[in-house]
Amino acid sequence: MDKNKVIIFDTTLRDGEQSPGCSMHLSEKLDIAEALEALGVDVIEAGFPAASEGEFEAVRAIAAVCKRATVAGLCRCKKEDIDKTYEAVKHAVSPRIHIFIATSPIHLRSKLKISEERCLEIIDEYTRYTRTLVNDVEFSFEDASRTPLGFLIKAAKTAVSAGATTINLPDTTGYATPDEIENMVRRISDEVQGIQNAVISMHCHNDLGMAVANSLAGVRAGARQIECTVNGIGERAGNAPLEEVVMALKTRADFFGLTTGIDTKRIYRTSKLVSSVIGIKPSPNKAVIGANAFVHESGIHQHGILQDKATYEIIKPEDVGIPQNALLLGKHSGKHAFKESISEMGYALTDEQIDSVFPLYKSLAERKKTLQRADIEALLAGYTRRIVKRTYALKNYEISAFKNSASASVTLEADGKLIGDRMSGDGPIDAGFKAISSATGLNFRLSDYQVHAVTEGKDALGEASVKLTDGKNQSTGKGISTDVLEASLIAYVDAINKLLQYESC
Ligand code: MN
Repeated sequence: MDKNKVIIFDTTLRDGEQSPGCSMHLSEKLDIAEALEALGVDVIEAGFPAASEGEFEAVRAIAAVCKRATVAGLCRCKKEDIDKTYEAVKHAVSPRIHIFIATSPIHLRSKLKISEERCLEIIDEYTRYTRTLVNDVEFSFEDASRTPLGFLIKAAKTAVSAGATTINLPDTTGYATPDEIENMVRRISDEVQGIQNAVISMHCHNDLGMAVANSLAGVRAGARQIECTVNGIGERAGNAPLEEVVMALKTRADFFGLTTGIDTKRIYRTSKLVSSVIGIKPSPNKAVIGANAFVHESGIHQHGILQDKATYEIIKPEDVGIPQNALLLGKHSGKHAFKESISEMGYALTDEQIDSVFPLYKSLAERKKTLQRADIEALLAGYTRRIVKRTYALKNYEISAFKNSASASVTLEADGKLIGDRMSGDGPIDAGFKAISSATGLNFRLSDYQVHAVTEGKDALGEASVKLTDGKNQSTGKGISTDVLEASLIAYVDAINKLLQYESC
């Protein structure tokens, strides 16, 4: 193994997916898994198979679809959980089982209610058992950064001698400082016998804004795996963002002397896909992928950039795949031009997929004279390649709105039949959503609704996202249109279709 290569372990589909408002549909998880593999991620943590049947099926499907990346499933130290995880990942080209137990005094005392001795016995027993199933076993010591180093070293020795091949040292609560992380990793790598045969991994949370700094402090001290997520999504304040970790290692290769297997030109596209799936846009000033990350506003800065970009730009936007040249498609652009443009933008769609997305492009181009790159990105990002079964489709609507009231009538197609209803509401969106609920007889709870303009100008496309929940599952529906009302209704129907698909599986 290359000693200077940092393994990128992506947990967007596990830690990211379990964060508030980020749950994903199976088809969306598969799209993201494929995008992560194309990005060059080494390990994809696909989920927590023992958590639910849906989660198990998702991990199994991801394991089947990945052609190169290692696919990991997370589980507790319980035989039935490990067995279930093995069933989910066993058909992967390269399966990994990731087991964990907490080691910090507060977790041992308050959560697990076990002694340190018992904790070591569990680590030994379940690592050995997992090794009977797979050769690639990662052991995580939850809350490692708040575990006394003496005990953490014993725990790591136990896991390594029982056969763990990766030792993960999470800063679960985002509490540690870079110096503390560096010291922890150095002590583990100096004092744990046999650690040279295992990879030390970092998993840092961003509660104090130090997730990236801590991950990098870990690799400076000898760790060779970083666990991260696209756009930094994850529990609470999130995980170390993949794009920041990777671009820090690349941009400051002079300092770190380390590489990754990431094709950085795919970062921007992958980030767009994830934000479209979860319906959450990164803040504009977000490092590397935020909308303003490469915008120079002050006169002095603009002057410098015009003379020499290197005055204020340490990363070239094209290195993370942000397109530089203008692209314009109009209603006269045919399928060939459309296909050429999207492949030039880096999307690989089959002819069948192009056939299914082309009518949507045409109907947008009819209404908006020229489509910019951002419009096409919104169109493709909102389009799930594995098409969800469309139980309902929006056929027509009529909405009238007044100052404090509105009424809407909608027509939907369901199994070739037309259904519809009329409802009134506080405003046009409320009335429209109520009419759809009433027509379908489905009353899911709306947990979030957002609408964004894709580009500037009054003919900008509106991109709507609707989150619905049935109490157990949540789905995010998407819709784009030149009309925000229409985009919103399409997103609402899309969310219903996705939620129904959960219920049927
Ligand atoms: Mn975590």
